[in-house]
Amino acid sequence: MSIKAYGAHARDKSLEPMEITRRAPGARDVQIDIAYCGVCHSDLHTVRAEWAGTLFPCVPGHEIVGRVSAVGAHVTDHKIGDLVGVGCIVDSCQHCEECDSGLENYCDGMVGTYNGATPDAPGHTLGGYSQQIVVHERYVLRIHHPEAQLAAVAPLLCAGITTYSPLRHWQAGAGKKVGVVGIGGLGHMGIKIAHAMGAHVVAFTTSPSKRDAAKALGADETVVSCNADEMAAHVKSFDFILNTVAAPHNLDAYMTLLKRDGTMCLVGMPASPHPSPEVFHLIGKRRALAGSMIGGIPETQEMLDFCAEHGIVADIELIRADQINEAYERMVKGDVKYRFVIDSASLSASIPR
Ligand code: NAP
Ligand code: ZN
Repeated sequence: MSIKAYGAHARDKSLEPMEITRRAPGARDVQIDIAYCGVCHSDLHTVRAEWAGTLFPCVPGHEIVGRVSAVGAHVTDHKIGDLVGVGCIVDSCQHCEECDSGLENYCDGMVGTYNGATPDAPGHTLGGYSQQIVVHERYVLRIHHPEAQLAAVAPLLCAGITTYSPLRHWQAGAGKKVGVVGIGGLGHMGIKIAHAMGAHVVAFTTSPSKRDAAKALGADETVVSCNADEMAAHVKSFDFILNTVAAPHNLDAYMTLLKRDGTMCLVGMPASPHPSPEVFHLIGKRRALAGSMIGGIPETQEMLDFCAEHGIVADIELIRADQINEAYERMVKGDVKYRFVIDSASLSASIPR
């Protein structure tokens, strides 16, 4: 079936309207009419080929929410009319140790929602800046938030799980002091989730204008990271720091804020490397520098349920698909509070069936 989408034909081209095709649902496939799709900084890194290996045409988008419009004969978990979501994963090998542990995000055969290998035309996956998607039921999540919040739920599918998973893994909670670096799409979700987990949350920002906003998101304290005195006040005090920054920067400024056995987890994926951290800062206090990639499917469902229970959604700016190029320019400048979400109805007034 041919549907409308928004994507780029080359790394130096703007995103533009295009027609793409989706496969007819197979026995275990779910067909979803997309209502909204969040705009992640990874979309921008990919479509501009800032990371290696972008395949064109590129239709980004992996924060997808919508309604089930068809199911295959053997689908058991979803039915027509259900509100569902799809995040960054649309397939995996389904038999390795990672998949058996519900950690499909670490499967070597994981297929990303866009730019991943698929037998479907054009040979790589095309994402959620589109009217419809067809996904194996294993990778489709149930949404229990009220329907009125659906647009603001979309960013949970990547920004939500990418921050929830490391916060859970490193046991953010009552009695823990947790830092969140960068108040963008990921960072603002990290603040909300860490706060809901019961941690004492300190937000780090390069933007003084976000100081008050961070408190409204749930931060107990905010530090403007270029202020040396404000940084010095937190030396050797953190159990855990979640670093979401999308650009190379001095990691030592944060490593020294960890107490003994503290960990800083990187989730930001800049196009060029950070300067290497000073080993003496690691060794001297048995500190750890770690990384984390999105989250597995069971944990993504757990995160959606946790957020529904705690009334957590993203703070969003709803845009039309034809505003996406301008939205990218603003995202590069850190000028978004805190996630753009595309209203898929703007792709066309009516969704073809
Ligand atoms: P975003 O909305 O653009 O937020 C990034 C924030 O980092 C900015 O708002 C800004 O916050 C801060 N920042 C400080 N200096 C910066 C600079 N020079 N350039 C850009 N940002 C700077 O991006 P996002 O969607 O949250 O994504 C953040 C990063 O995580 C990206 O690299 C993305 O590819 C990556 N990511 C990783 C995973 C994973 O699985 N690990 C998943 C999704 C995304 P302040 O104004 O507060 O300083
Ligand atoms: Zn993402």
